[in-house]
Amino acid sequence: MFSHIYIEEQVADHPRTQAICARFPAAQRILCERYGEVFNPNAQNFRLQKTKPALILARKHNRHVLPAPDGYGLGGRHNYYFSHLLNCLYDCRYCFLQGMYRSAHYVLYVNYEDFGAAIDATLANNGHENSWFFSGYDCDSLAMEPVSEFVQHFLPFFADRPQASIELRTKSTQIRSLLKHEPLANAVIAFSFTPGEIHQALEHKVPTIERRLQSMQQLQQAGWQLGLRFDPLIYHEDYRDSYRELFQQLFSQLRADQLHSVSLGAFRLPQGYFKRLVKLYPDEPLFAGQFSTTRDMVSYPRNQEQEMLAYCTTELLQHIPESLLFPCTLAA
Ligand code: SF4
Repeated sequence: MFSHIYIEEQVADHPRTQAICARFPAAQRILCERYGEVFNPNAQNFRLQKTKPALILARKHNRHVLPAPDGYGLGGRHNYYFSHLLNCLYDCRYCFLQGMYRSAHYVLYVNYEDFGAAIDATLANNGHENSWFFSGYDCDSLAMEPVSEFVQHFLPFFADRPQASIELRTKSTQIRSLLKHEPLANAVIAFSFTPGEIHQALEHKVPTIERRLQSMQQLQQAGWQLGLRFDPLIYHEDYRDSYRELFQQLFSQLRADQLHSVSLGAFRLPQGYFKRLVKLYPDEPLFAGQFSTTRDMVSYPRNQEQEMLAYCTTELLQHIPESLLFPCTLAA
């Protein structure tokens, strides 16, 4: 899977580093002082690296838990995100990570215990009020599970902290760690979808809708709480038909009455990221459509965006009660 593993000297002896390296005996190991030496240099070509990314094992020193942006959440008062991993196994053309990072290598922060301590400190600061912790903001929460064992580590952690809820957001089918564990009342496994033709055109390496649905059904049967995420909504000429069909497909196979939440959000990228994406994929039809820029954020023109959101909301409400629907309202 990896031909090269870069290892920060300070985590070389970490048990998690050693366990991961043992799983890839053929990979060339390269020690480095700080992972930024490999990950940050400006001259990198994201598109080229994406064909064969290396794994970087590093330590996260600070800012383990950050406040979620305004408008991001599931109705809770305290919302945070944390990222044990930067970058993703998959290759979605609309993914903001391509605009955010110069490098397509995966950075895995192996010091999970420090993330746990930061979550505890955050809870203490809140007076132990109910709080949400979103994983999967800078990666897919489950796709790399066979390597990272992130879920396996954090499920018992959250099981002991019922006032802390975790959202694992994914497009993957890596559910083995979840099925091995008792379902948690304070965990939501949130699966993201776009319609079939968008999936085929833009979501490279992402498992098919059918395979993800099978994983969702298995999880639902095992008692896990699931979420559906339609974020970003991708505009295309037939978006009405294709989103309606997608919703029908999903809700015909899932128990809607057992869903935790459904959220949807508009396509939105900081202007600098958007420009970088266009530069990486100048022939990509997705970027040839109409866009508008407001306060440095690129989005579909307001009318188009509002029309899509309204249409998809109406369609979703054919399948679920309004109480389950959470529009993502990040400011433009
Ligand atoms: S699955 Fe999510 S994180 Fe991964 S490439 Fe696609 S949009 Fe990005």
